[in-house]
Amino acid sequence: MVQNHFHCPVCQYQGEFIAFRGRLHAQCPQCKCLERHRLQFVIFNKLIDQLPTKSLAILHCAPDPFFAEMLKNNFGTYESADIAMSGVDHQVDLQSLPFENNRYDIVFASHVLEHIKDDLSALKEISRILRPGGLAILPVPIIGEKTYEYDQPNPAEDYHVRAPGLDYYQRYKPYFSKIKYYRSQEIPAENQAYVYCDSKYLHPMKYSEYQIFDLVPVCYK
Ligand SMILES: [Zn+2]
Repeated sequence: MVQNHFHCPVCQYQGEFIAFRGRLHAQCPQCKCLERHRLQFVIFNKLIDQLPTKSLAILHCAPDPFFAEMLKNNFGTYESADIAMSGVDHQVDLQSLPFENNRYDIVFASHVLEHIKDDLSALKEISRILRPGGLAILPVPIIGEKTYEYDQPNPAEDYHVRAPGLDYYQRYKPYFSKIKYYRSQEIPAENQAYVYCDSKYLHPMKYSEYQIFDLVPVCYK
């Protein structure tokens, strides 16, 4: 039986999710969150349960609105950052950050690094501003087996400068001591964190004929 009754962990909506860009069961009709937001939201709540977050400082890069309230409520210090967005606490470039070493306990940047040409500089900077033992949550969209770099930002892919492959997270290794991966399979099915696709679509992270799982890398400094 195909499940079509879901529960949104972000806004507590219960019911059917709607299609988004051709992907079935993708978007919550109430808060508009997508598959990846629900996965990251549930993972974040698991991490919050394990950490003394009231005494921790988090930097939220390119902040998705779904997370702001939850993070502000749980962390002692919440700061947002983006290179262009207005209304953030810091208008900064991740490739060169104006913050001192070891300033933050957590850095969260979802679907950001695929927009940054010099992603290794950004990773180095993220690691630098994290205190030892701090963690960075840095998921990107995985498109295929191998990472492909574009010469120019690709307008057909939201101006991404690369199509990250399954090998992409290997780039994180020099900057962190440990990477723990969380998958769509690890959260309740009713939260719906799979990307639905055509059965003929080839992808290295196929979970079923019509589903692709997603991956959230949590990197420990
Ligand atoms: Zn929702």
